[in-house]
Amino acid sequence: MLPDPSAQTPKPFHIAVMPGDGIGPEVAEEAVRLLNALAASDSTLRFEFETLDVGAGAYLRHGNPLPEEALTAAGRADAMLLGAMGLPEVRWPDGREMTPQIDLRERFDLYAGLRPIKLYHPEDSPLKGYGESRPIDFILVRESTEGLFSARLHQQDSEGQESRDVLRITRKGAERVCRRAFELARRRRKRCTLVDKANVLPSMVFFRKIFEEIGEEFPDVAREHVYVDAMALFMVRKPDVYDVIVTENMFGDILSDLAAGIVGGMGMAPSGDIGDRFGVFQPSHGTAPDIAGKNIANPVAMILSAAMMLDWLGLADPASRIEAAVSRTLADPAKRTPDMGGKLGTIAMTNAILAEL
Ligand code: ATP
Repeated sequence: MLPDPSAQTPKPFHIAVMPGDGIGPEVAEEAVRLLNALAASDSTLRFEFETLDVGAGAYLRHGNPLPEEALTAAGRADAMLLGAMGLPEVRWPDGREMTPQIDLRERFDLYAGLRPIKLYHPEDSPLKGYGESRPIDFILVRESTEGLFSARLHQQDSEGQESRDVLRITRKGAERVCRRAFELARRRRKRCTLVDKANVLPSMVFFRKIFEEIGEEFPDVAREHVYVDAMALFMVRKPDVYDVIVTENMFGDILSDLAAGIVGGMGMAPSGDIGDRFGVFQPSHGTAPDIAGKNIANPVAMILSAAMMLDWLGLADPASRIEAAVSRTLADPAKRTPDMGGKLGTIAMTNAILAEL
């Protein structure tokens, strides 16, 4: 009997694509183009993309930056690929800025914000002496559902004499993000660094205690703590020593921009917001409205985020093929977008990566 041809067709991965606003649609389109090219060259790989209308534009069209139908569809997908959301001039009627990306993390309980920081070429760093012999290659794990962001929706009396935000750390929240960080470190160079402020804040003493408890489950991983102010210095003075860094929400927010700065800027920093069931993959940068629509946005962070998504879906080989193609492309200093001193446009930069793929 002849084999049933449909049995040989792999089941497609269903990807929810949320292009969003500003440069989001431009870079998301390039990532989808690259994934389609990858699938075209590999018969075991199939993707089905579903585009969802979210962000500031969606608010202007439907009155909601994260319409319920889009969230339901996103929840059904195998993974979510997000460009960037929000525009400075589009606000709620009471003047508050919209924060759909934070809402998305809370809705899907995406507690671990993974931000890999890797220097591909010495010339891309403002720091001297880093590159092949002294690589910069670490992952920042940002707790993304509580910490100092947890109070953002609390009502404040703006006419009163005082305003406060609470830095909330729960046992559950700290345990799961620390465990995720130690698991990552175990698969890498086996070093996990907690960034805290345990010399001043009781919530951070608690976080450190839980980090130590979870660390006991990983005797093969070296652990240490660094105060957040010291880490701001160390990230500039000795970024090559770090492997996995875990920290609370706000510290992670600030340090991830600093970390992106030492490897070439926001256009080079991918990210994945991951929970136990769902994963959203997006560049660390925002919507960059100043350069939107000009075909000059750097697509590398978005493309590396797509590679992270594949890895999370269990497609380690195609993920590493994308990363290797990015690495080979960036080995040639002429292949850069204007944010990194180059002349290539968004599409040409993706084409250069595609040629290596
Ligand atoms: P958010 O508040 O959403 O993080 P932001 O306005 O603070 O956004 P970004 O949108 O990330 O910050 O970007 C800041 C600036 O960095 C942009 O205005 C843009 O000039 C530059 N930038 C960010 N991402 C890219 C990119 N992919 N390519 C080129 N330049 C970029």
